[in-house]
Amino acid sequence: MGPDPVGAATLVSENFGFGRSRRHGVDIVKGNMGWIEVVVGPMFSGKSEELIRRLRRAEIARQRVQIFKPAIDSRYAANEIISHNGLGIPSDNVTKASEIIDKLQPRTEVVGIDEAQFLGDEVVDVCTKLANLGKRVIVAGLDTDFRGRPFEPMPRLLAIAEEITKLLAICVRCGNPAVHTQRLVESEELIVVGAGSAYEARCRRCFEPNPALAAREAGPLLLRNRSANAGGK
Ligand code: ADP
Ligand code: ZN
Repeated sequence: MGPDPVGAATLVSENFGFGRSRRHGVDIVKGNMGWIEVVVGPMFSGKSEELIRRLRRAEIARQRVQIFKPAIDSRYAANEIISHNGLGIPSDNVTKASEIIDKLQPRTEVVGIDEAQFLGDEVVDVCTKLANLGKRVIVAGLDTDFRGRPFEPMPRLLAIAEEITKLLAICVRCGNPAVHTQRLVESEELIVVGAGSAYEARCRRCFEPNPALAAREAGPLLLRNRSANAGGK
């Protein structure tokens, strides 16, 4: 193979045949063009699972893949993304988005980023830069916070992405499609990482955006754990 500073020519030829299904948007990619794919939804909707699936397929196609997640999300494993159903893939911890650029190897073709909502606005510039360098960037993250409000920087990533996948979980109360992440511990902090029991998936009907109030009304039904150590899953 000839010199190919970003390895994108390989990516394109391999993707064109079978790497990307027609269901996904970016069908015709010519030259060294990168792009941004964003996977959003509430907790338990399968974002990590979907990210891992896409990254594994890229690896099977012998593409060079680098995978990052914020260091804050080290609940299950320090150097691995692990989905709630136990799938895993090795990853690099970063404390801030710009570290992704620092750690980028020139020949990397696909960059995966999980829990991007913890990486701040800077991740938007980082993803843009990666795509402009010819990388396929796959970013997963929560699009809404525990109050049901847009969770920056995900809305900005959605705005600049070539392709968007919104996943839904199953509401644990009623079984309907769930778009919300219900916090079960009493805290007004935006980020409360940790215990699996701190969050559950709820539909728009069962979602209680004010958990402190709900906790007072529901009493023992809800955990009252102010010391939950930070988290997304
Ligand atoms: P996310 O990254 O969006 O939090 P994961 O990929 O880590 O999601 O986990 C998805 C898996 O979580 C599902 O395949 C399923 O096995 C499990 N799961 C647990 N609770 C739920 C729920 N309420 N709705 C859907 N899946 C759930
Ligand atoms: Zn419901």
